[in-house]
Amino acid sequence: MSLELGSISVAFGGFKALDNVTISLKKAEIVGLIGPNGAGKTTCVNVITGFQDPSSGTVVLDGQNINAKTPHDIRRRGLARTFQAGRLFTGLDVLDNLAVTGVGLGHSRRASEEEAMRLLTCMDAAQLAELPAAGLPYTDERRVGIARALMFSPDFLLLDEPAAGMSEAEANDLASIIRRIADELDCGVLWSDHNVGLVLSLSN
Ligand code: ADP
Ligand code: MG
Repeated sequence: MSLELGSISVAFGGFKALDNVTISLKKAEIVGLIGPNGAGKTTCVNVITGFQDPSSGTVVLDGQNINAKTPHDIRRRGLARTFQAGRLFTGLDVLDNLAVTGVGLGHSRRASEEEAMRLLTCMDAAQLAELPAAGLPYTDERRVGIARALMFSPDFLLLDEPAAGMSEAEANDLASIIRRIADELDCGVLWSDHNVGLVLSLSN
């Protein structure tokens, strides 16, 4: 199974945000998307996840062109993402922030909570389960956001600057957690960042 971007271009009026971008991502593989602010990283993730139509080019998942699919449909096909400023449900505790996704997917509350706990543990965040989501430290909030995306059991996970705002040590911790998740959950990861050193140390 693979995710293939073929010659994706995106123009906003006369401005070309993406110009012939080609990416190939396989399961358990980590691919880095490097560039400074304004380089087009978020636009690229938006195209893959159906939030932005490309001006030209194809997005092919497991041999099927998913260009014209909705974000919801794309997620159902096994692609999950985080947002640069992803917000948790502040009225819920951390476990419930994940469990609601499971319930929304049609699983029982109990099964959803068990899966939520399993994924928080994968993210080294099990100790956060009963805390209110409001007021979590920034790095914890990011880990919970990734765990929540994993509730969709994705084949591919798209992380848009997941380490933004983290110290070097925190970013390296997150990188090793994601490496482990890619292996253990057999999940392909696209990691966008402007920190070249971090991405090079992490990527296949
Ligand atoms: P990055 O995530 O790498 O910082 P973006 O993908 O957000 O970059 O943006 C790439 C370029 O496209 C920027 O110059 C940005 O201003 C422009 N851009 C992004 N979205 C839009 C939009 N909806 N309309 C017009 N220009 C946009
Ligand atoms: Mg961005």
